[in-house]
Amino acid sequence: MTINHIRLRCGILAVCMVLGACSKDPQVSAETPLPEASPRNLLLICIDTVRADVFYGLGEAHKDSLSAWQDDALVFEQAISSSSWTVPALGSVFSGLWQSGHGGGRLPDVNIGGLMLSTALNEGVPLLAEAAEQEGFDTAALSASPWTNSPDDAMGLTRGFKEKQKLGRLGSRAAFGQMNEILAQKPEDTPFFYYLHFMEAHDWHVTAEPVLDARIAKFSPEERALFLQVAPPQACKDEQSLLCKRYLVYASAVKRLRESIAVMLTRMEEKSLLEDTVVVVFSDHGEEFGDHANDKRIQKTVGSSPKKFVGHGQSMYQELLHVPIIVWHPKYDGAGIDELVSLVDIGPTVARWLDIEFLPAQWPGYYLDNYLQPSQKALERVAYASGIANGEQQISAQQGTKKSIWYMVSDENSYFDLASDPYESHSAPSDNLVLRFDGLFLDYARSMQNKERKPALLPDEQIRRLQSIGYLQGVETSADTEN
Ligand SMILES: [Zn+2]
Repeated sequence: MTINHIRLRCGILAVCMVLGACSKDPQVSAETPLPEASPRNLLLICIDTVRADVFYGLGEAHKDSLSAWQDDALVFEQAISSSSWTVPALGSVFSGLWQSGHGGGRLPDVNIGGLMLSTALNEGVPLLAEAAEQEGFDTAALSASPWTNSPDDAMGLTRGFKEKQKLGRLGSRAAFGQMNEILAQKPEDTPFFYYLHFMEAHDWHVTAEPVLDARIAKFSPEERALFLQVAPPQACKDEQSLLCKRYLVYASAVKRLRESIAVMLTRMEEKSLLEDTVVVVFSDHGEEFGDHANDKRIQKTVGSSPKKFVGHGQSMYQELLHVPIIVWHPKYDGAGIDELVSLVDIGPTVARWLDIEFLPAQWPGYYLDNYLQPSQKALERVAYASGIANGEQQISAQQGTKKSIWYMVSDENSYFDLASDPYESHSAPSDNLVLRFDGLFLDYARSMQNKERKPALLPDEQIRRLQSIGYLQGVETSADTEN
């Protein structure tokens, strides 16, 4: 950031203080609900750790069993997660709120016995499954994720689900059978809300090299070529590298997930379930394959070892935030939607479709079907992400193709135009962008304080700086607390 920009940032913050607010408040109220067709049931499927580029790329490069199904779906091609790892992202799906609103998934700098303990969702935050349960839905969560299948629901993510089961060893392949057993016990007239969580794309590539080699040896030449065709730019520069092997196995897991979803849809169709069921498939975050391994700022906090650049939770770059969202709705024809949407949109949208009373106060999202004929407000919306698991805390904000990442401890920003620089390789600040995003980040930081009353989210230095210009008065820094 240039000195000019720093001056400008201070200047705009001071002006904001005087005027009260400089930019649109991020907590945009919901647009007027228009009753849409009311299907009875909901099947919500999280495919953990699936990048949008690999998921959609596989279907585009080679038609598979899911491709035809995609033609009948609302396919959101520019969906953004609210964080780069599981707990804060899922919290947003179930609550309809940013991570700052539901409070889950913040990892304090406290390392207890080698375990980094994440904060749970705030208990008072209403969740979609609770609302569905109250309205008489048969609710069940079948999950392979340790974050959602712990018996005591330590993160609060499955609050409201009556039935909770671990998915078996066969994962997505066996999921329909397991769900079908729950369906068989359900009273016929009772609608259902079932949640499935698959971990293939999270797990398969995180293993020893000989296991990767054994999996790769089973690929056909066509499969290998397909995976390479949709590889992120840094993943397979050296096809014999461990990085590329991990990517290849990851791509095979994403392919498996595509096939499993197609099988589920086919079996639901055979049982006439698709006539009155909305099926929503989404991923909670993506996965890095060396995409930003040369990023000095991330290296500074997570280390420069190449293995740090396979995984998630460490940055707010698009390889971790850009995720698929696909919706099969009995009353909607298929459509590709190229506008920015967020995971916070899912809960209230499906609640409206199913006539479930669930709309968070100050919902920051938009109904997904609004994007079939988007209003100007919906087109100009902002999608935030926060809650880093590993490294310096960061918040990202995206509006259209413009994006900024705020590194909170060092108080530095990067600015990108995703249209001209989709891989976020060159920060290109301009006075206009700095002004715009300063206001947006200030709004978000303020919503954190208002909702959580936990100043630990902001570094002391940042709190003091904001206090010196009139914000966050009365908020204690950790240094104050110790005194
Ligand atoms: Zn995850």
